[in-house]
Amino acid sequence: MDCPLCKNPMVVLELDCVETDYCTDCGGIWLDAGELEMLFADSAQAGELVSSFKPAEGIAEKPCRCPICLKKMQKIIASSGDKPVIIDRCPKEHGLWFDRGELSQILAKGTFDKERKVIKLLTEMFNQNGNEENNGN
Ligand SMILES: [Zn+2]
Ligand SMILES: [Zn+2]
Repeated sequence: MDCPLCKNPMVVLELDCVETDYCTDCGGIWLDAGELEMLFADSAQAGELVSSFKPAEGIAEKPCRCPICLKKMQKIIASSGDKPVIIDRCPKEHGLWFDRGELSQILAKGTFDKERKVIKLLTEMFNQNGNEENNGN
């Protein structure tokens, strides 16, 4: 499968036993339909998140195409609150595209009973954690 942004082949990234596709160039992650739900330990919470998805109107972000059917994906607001995350969803529901760091932002809103292994992994990957203890003196 090719990255919808860079068109480079993506690599398989295993997140807590869920095989996702990851672009090493732009850091984006593709989740097939149902995989987001699998990442959540609590299916009710996953359902809540998915049902809260709203189409985003008038977003200037460049549309990208579904790596499976090549249809233009829809911009979706994946979480309300102070920092909405805009993700891309295939109109035929093949899956979801997360730009670099977006998946961890969304997962960070959930609760996990597995020590947030997925979030830890993503955070390490993108080195986004501002609370690292290596601030120096
Ligand atoms: Zn890419
Ligand atoms: Zn598609």
